[in-house]
Amino acid sequence: MALKPDSYVVLNDGHKMPVLGFGTYAPDTYTKEQAGESAKVAIEVGYRHIDCASMYGNEVEVGQAIRSKIADGTVKREDIFYTGKLWNNNQAPERVRIGLEKTLKDLQLDYIDLFIIHTPMEFKPGDDPMPVDENGKVIFHNTDIRETWKAMEACKDAGLVRSIGVSNFNHKQLELILNMPGLKYKPVCDQVECHIYLNQSKLLEFCKSRDIVLVGYSVLGSSRVEGWIDQNSPKVLEDPVVNEVAKKLNRTPAQVAERYLLQRGIVVLAKSFTAKRIKENFQVFDFELSAEDMKRLDGVNKNLRYLSIEAWKEHPKYPYHEEY
Ligand code: NDP
Repeated sequence: MALKPDSYVVLNDGHKMPVLGFGTYAPDTYTKEQAGESAKVAIEVGYRHIDCASMYGNEVEVGQAIRSKIADGTVKREDIFYTGKLWNNNQAPERVRIGLEKTLKDLQLDYIDLFIIHTPMEFKPGDDPMPVDENGKVIFHNTDIRETWKAMEACKDAGLVRSIGVSNFNHKQLELILNMPGLKYKPVCDQVECHIYLNQSKLLEFCKSRDIVLVGYSVLGSSRVEGWIDQNSPKVLEDPVVNEVAKKLNRTPAQVAERYLLQRGIVVLAKSFTAKRIKENFQVFDFELSAEDMKRLDGVNKNLRYLSIEAWKEHPKYPYHEEY
């Protein structure tokens, strides 16, 4: 079926997720107010899926933006699909609901659509999102992720969140949850880095076989934040094949980069705090990549992960030691 601006995927719990989401993470060179203003622009141009997280420090502003677009009649609450994320300091079962309630309080909403475990790498439980030791090293913790998942299920049962899922999990970590005794709700999605240079074909196949949606982040090549991302890595939007295809179709590289994932059944997140690009990135429903172009784009994969978070490599649940 042809993709349209209001296309969605049906999640394994029956809820619907719009296929294109607006990303709200930005490095500190942007203000939190810009996140809110950009979220308003995004809703005005047609985005109905908004991806955020307590870790981004902007849920107050993004929540305010959503509520203002509801108040002015642009959208209704049920038109918006909001994703929040449980940060690494809140994975102890008794802290999961605390994390979600903080998100709801900041947003001033009474439920969110999706709550996902931000990463499998737990930190020391407590209010400090980055607990460090005397040497400045993050203090890791290692709760059985299945215990965290049970607490996530309880949040869904309490009506605070419609759907629950995970992020940055490898297939074995997903399997651990899928195979847990007494599983009540499967994760609806795994939100992971995904773009032409890391096309995630194996994880995608795994997810499809388990009715889990793969949601892709850094689709445009990420914000390339210094200290987190290798500044010498190749740029998605400068890739020669992407640019050739874009030129041929009279499209922009960003639109081709998004469309490549959408046509593979991946839900795409795209971040921009520039009005013109916010709009451009939503104009991806009136053209199609041919099978031949898709094949060419498959060919540029390099298994290149921008966000490999080497600093947390020693974590017992570091997800990227596995191939996928
Ligand atoms: P993206 O791949 O979406 O790229 C964002 C960068 O691309 C920004 O620098 C932006 O600049 C620029 N850009 C956007 N549109 C265009 C365009 N049309 N032409 C040229 N440049 C453009 O980055 P993210 O890594 O932020 O991923 C998107 C979202 O995914 C995040 O915002 C967040 O919501 C989520 N995410 C989740 C993670 C997780 O662990 N679960 C990890 C990382 C991201 P500008 O804003 O100035 O326009």
